[in-house]
Amino acid sequence: MTQRTALVTGGTGGIGSAIIRYLAKQGHRVATNFRDQAKAAAWHENMAREGIDVLMVPGDVSDHTACEAMVEAIQSKLGPVEILVNNAGITRDTTFHKMSYQQWTDVVNTNLNACFNVTRPVIDGMRGRKWGRIVQISSINGQKGQYGQANYAAAKAGMHGFTISLAQENAKFGITVNTVSPGYVGTDMVMAVPEEVREKIVAQIPIGRLGKPEEIAHAVAFFTGEETSWITGTNLSINGGHYMGW
Ligand code: NDP
Repeated sequence: MTQRTALVTGGTGGIGSAIIRYLAKQGHRVATNFRDQAKAAAWHENMAREGIDVLMVPGDVSDHTACEAMVEAIQSKLGPVEILVNNAGITRDTTFHKMSYQQWTDVVNTNLNACFNVTRPVIDGMRGRKWGRIVQISSINGQKGQYGQANYAAAKAGMHGFTISLAQENAKFGITVNTVSPGYVGTDMVMAVPEEVREKIVAQIPIGRLGKPEEIAHAVAFFTGEETSWITGTNLSINGGHYMGW
């Protein structure tokens, strides 16, 4: 397998960590961003104990200028970013009639505007080299909507529009752009939901359990491989059968 340079945003989180492990084990050079130095150092040490070397660069994905600097720092150390996984994300749940402007903008900036902020500095290089793999981590709730998540559902649905437009513009340049839409995965984001609510969610999943981060990582690795050069502008739902639409 050709070794590539991969940037996975939000790599210190549950799904991001699994994606980084998977890509690193495939032999790729991997990088991620961090915001909290102490948290990042502890995470980095854990990864190193597993034998995984990750380049960590400071960067808030909601900050356009910071993302330019982050990409530049990664490229100067590992070479051009060839695989990009737009994974960093947050929720700020509440019903829309109670939602503050801050809750709206925080979620849209971190989940959707981040796709612009991080992808824009890498796209020219990918086009020039005529090879690239870009994967957005969206969500089941961007497909079906969710009570209390108008901000998150709007941002995650927007990622699909981003994916299919970027896929069209860059297909001739050897760049594929796809979306992975996880259902409920047992990471901190979901474990923060009250247990009784989680039980109700699991009861709605035909396969009868939460997803595992490794299952999302497997799909990302599929889209970032050499063999999937004819798959672009698509969305892969991984949700235990929770939502069976597009
Ligand atoms: P986690 O909360 O475990 O991890 C989120 C990661 O994103 C962390 O590394 C966090 O870093 C980073 N991050 C958040 N905000 C920013 C920011 N402004 N700038 C840079 N990094 C940031 O979440 P998951 O691993 O569960 O989720 C990963 C992705 O998968 C998200 O996009 C989420 O929406 C999506 N998803 C998750 C599902 C689930 O069930 N878990 C279901 C569907 C989609 P920090 O430590 O600095 O906060």
